[in-house]
Amino acid sequence: MALLEIRNVTRRFGALEAVKDVTLAIEAGEFFTLLGPSGCGKTTILRMIAGFDEPDAGDILLDGRPLTGIPPEQRPLHTVFQSYALFPHMTVAGNVAFPLETAGKPRDEIRRRVGEALALVYLTDKAESFPHELSGGQKQRVALARGLVNKPRLLLLDEPLGALDAKLRVEMQSELIQLQRDVGITFVFVTHAQQEALALSHRIAVMKDGRVEQCDEPDTLYTQPANRFVADFIGKINLIEVAVAAASKVLLTLDAPGLGQIAATDLRPLKAGERGAFALRPELVRVFGHKESADLKNRFEGRVRELLYLGDVTHYKIELANGFVIEALMPNAAPGRAKFHEVGDPVAVCWRHDAGVFLRA
Ligand code: ATP
Repeated sequence: MALLEIRNVTRRFGALEAVKDVTLAIEAGEFFTLLGPSGCGKTTILRMIAGFDEPDAGDILLDGRPLTGIPPEQRPLHTVFQSYALFPHMTVAGNVAFPLETAGKPRDEIRRRVGEALALVYLTDKAESFPHELSGGQKQRVALARGLVNKPRLLLLDEPLGALDAKLRVEMQSELIQLQRDVGITFVFVTHAQQEALALSHRIAVMKDGRVEQCDEPDTLYTQPANRFVADFIGKINLIEVAVAAASKVLLTLDAPGLGQIAATDLRPLKAGERGAFALRPELVRVFGHKESADLKNRFEGRVRELLYLGDVTHYKIELANGFVIEALMPNAAPGRAKFHEVGDPVAVCWRHDAGVFLRA
């Protein structure tokens, strides 16, 4: 049995259906993420789990028991917000102790558990500091310690890293992974940052307009997106309009108007004439001199229209003969060479048969 079950949950605000018939099962010990653009309903789901809001239809069950009607403070969970929500007049230790004091725990136990929680987030030496004396990352670690001190069944995290600068955010991602592994508590994490979701989660539910579009492990979402929205929302992607020209058990021939034929591998039964998009990640597209490797399949000639040098990689936009633009991401691994090609250079691109996926229209 799943730890948390969300069954056919709908939430309306007037005419707006913010959450539409969502069903999800979250396992004990999972780092589970709700990912989607602003307004897709992530926070509304989190608020209903927390008990700050109730569904108009459907049920939310914890350990098989409906949470309906149980006030937030009686649910065995805790929410960590982007804004930290620390008490400014209390020390770090006081903030972390708060849930235990409210629960009337004995003094000795409070002292021991606050010590353990602060050690988990590397803040033992800040126990007597006040929130205004801490950095953003430290404040968020206090909020996490306060969330974990009561050993909840579920920790709900609403964009907890959203207020941190980019470098600190990446550091905190590693800390969160470690922390979740150490404590083994189920995390339900909300974010609109797709890379953060990929880096942190065991599974991700990608949402759009109140619905779950796909729920899978990060690498499945990235390599086998269920539809164009998921393909496009997670990472960069080339979406090439195609029709199936011929389909055998292992190989597809796709017709891309103006581009010609693409050979692709797809193990699903597809019929000639089906239309869709061929979704191809830029890092699977190779760029090389236009005279090289003329005998390769899936090889198209063009010119470099734009490039962005990003240090570790260069992001190319290659205009093919018919004006079609394809994006490629090439590692800058060659010593002493910052870029492989310049704007205007004649080049060729190619990719392997198994490099992309066909997405039905
Ligand atoms: P963000 O990333 O911007 O926080 P989100 O995916 O968490 O977005 P929600 O906050 O769940 O989105 O909101 C979903 C939709 O419901 C939005 O259109 C929002 O305006 C609307 N909404 C949320 N709460 C209320 C409310 N209390 N009253 C009216 N509309 C609401």
